[in-house]
Amino acid sequence: MRMDTELKTIAIVGSGASGVACFIQLVLKYIIAKSSQPLSIVLFERKNEFGTGLAYGTGQEGHLLNTKAGLMGLFPGERLHFVQWMHQHKDLIEQDFPQVHPHPDSYPPRMLYGLYVQSMLDHYFQIAQQHKLQVSKQHMEIVDAEATGEQRITLKSNKNSYYHADYVILATGTPASATFRELNGLTQFIASPWPSKRILTTIEDKNAKVSIVGSSLTAIDALITLVENGHKGPITFFSLSGLLPRVQSPAEIPFQRKVLTLSNIRTLIRENQRSLRVKDLIRLFRAEVENHLQRKVDWAAEERVGKNQLDLLEGDIRQATQGANLYQNILYSLREDTYAIWKLLSADQKILFDKWIKPYFDINRHAIPMENGVKVRNLLKTNQLRVIGNSDDIQWDGTKFILKTEDEKSYEADFVINASGPASVVSKMEDLPLLQILLKKNYIQEYAAGGLLADLNTMRLESGDGIPRLPLYTVGHPLSGLQLDVNSLWFNVEQADRLTDDIIQQIR
Ligand SMILES: Cc1cc2nc3c(=O)[nH]c(=O)nc-3n(C[C@H](O)[C@H](O)[C@H](O)COP(=O)(O)OP(=O)(O)OC[C@H]3O[C@@H](n4cnc5c(N)ncnc54)[C@H](O)[C@@H]3O)c2cc1C
Repeated sequence: MRMDTELKTIAIVGSGASGVACFIQLVLKYIIAKSSQPLSIVLFERKNEFGTGLAYGTGQEGHLLNTKAGLMGLFPGERLHFVQWMHQHKDLIEQDFPQVHPHPDSYPPRMLYGLYVQSMLDHYFQIAQQHKLQVSKQHMEIVDAEATGEQRITLKSNKNSYYHADYVILATGTPASATFRELNGLTQFIASPWPSKRILTTIEDKNAKVSIVGSSLTAIDALITLVENGHKGPITFFSLSGLLPRVQSPAEIPFQRKVLTLSNIRTLIRENQRSLRVKDLIRLFRAEVENHLQRKVDWAAEERVGKNQLDLLEGDIRQATQGANLYQNILYSLREDTYAIWKLLSADQKILFDKWIKPYFDINRHAIPMENGVKVRNLLKTNQLRVIGNSDDIQWDGTKFILKTEDEKSYEADFVINASGPASVVSKMEDLPLLQILLKKNYIQEYAAGGLLADLNTMRLESGDGIPRLPLYTVGHPLSGLQLDVNSLWFNVEQADRLTDDIIQQIR
């Protein structure tokens, strides 16, 4: 199929939450601009469903949002919109999700959030049609792209159809992990915890020994998939840090930062006449904590690696109940400033941040809802779950997996689920072949700290040497190095707003 060349055409490749957020903003901005330019918007999606993407297409009710509902609005500046939608759909919730109490501090099932995104997509699809916008959804994978001059791009699908577009938005989402690729051919090795159905169809023996690589939110998703479907056998989290996410307070506790402020960071840069370093951030964070507590802290004693994770989790649940996780309160209070600070770090310093503090940042900033904290605690208590740190060696001996730690201890497993988190280096995102092809053609360029290089005011991608910049944009995980919060919906929605501003300004 070929599109009418008189039209301006915007192609959105990937129709998860980010792609849908872009679609809605394009429709709204086009209508508001009262543009007379004929416009067509095409949404592409390789999965069966549009709107749910990787995160919200889970078939498991036990997979909860990890972000409070009050941040999950699909519209920029309207973070409460999802909560308002839940209130407007009380009948659906009472019937299908009776345990959900719509509230900004609640953590509803991600399935319910997927229904919200789909209903917003349907709604704005209809609005677009009423305004004579040409809109369509194409269920196919875009596998190649060819620039026609500097202005247009021809997309090729896996069904051998071609689409000409004036603008292409790559909303291709979260890639699979880049680790343990050598085990990928084994049926007992599950390369990704999603879709969760694969875990259930592969591990039929409910008493099998299962190792989950990782111990973060992804690993907890895999754990919940197993136990909520009756798995009784031993489960091991096997990870480098061996750290579990901390637990969310029932309500966010406001924190007034006095030391770790953007203003103090700017002063530091001006007075020292040098760029920001990770060490500065560590120092300011520690000073913030000590200033709040009005005492010195023994930072070595705060180390969590190598400690008993059940004891730590019990303590975290107690602290969360009282809203007393100071680190979490400080990091949540930084939500609106994090990006501005991140942009002040050079690529080298961003890499150091990932190495030195990302694991600690993540367990506090991406904590688990209380309900999941209690589930994990109970599994640790009964010894069905164990957490092993300092480990990244897995071998298959022909009948079972042997997992080894740095201190040469060995563990056996019948099945391994790789939940070690998404690849951040684009050339290793093998499940996103389109990005590989665009890289090879030099249409896009990698950023040293991960992800792609883009103009952060517009999210337009930079091309490689010798290739003029093309009308290619991206949002979400492909910007994982340049941006820090690409795993938060509220952040991606704000970036979708900027990106669509740029496109609409050019076509109206
Ligand atoms: C398991 C999980 C849970 C999460 N929970 C939360 C949460 O509670 N709160 C929160 O704020 N954030 C959460 N996130 C972060 C989440 O990634 C973002 O919030 C946001 O949903 C990302 O949406 P996306 O559209 O960018 O990516 P995705 O949801 O990954 O969607 C990308 C889509 O693009 C499609 N695609 C890729 N390549 C092509 C192609 N070439 N052609 C056609 N289609 C293609 C894929 O099939 C996919 O459907 C979670 C992430 C995961 C993985």
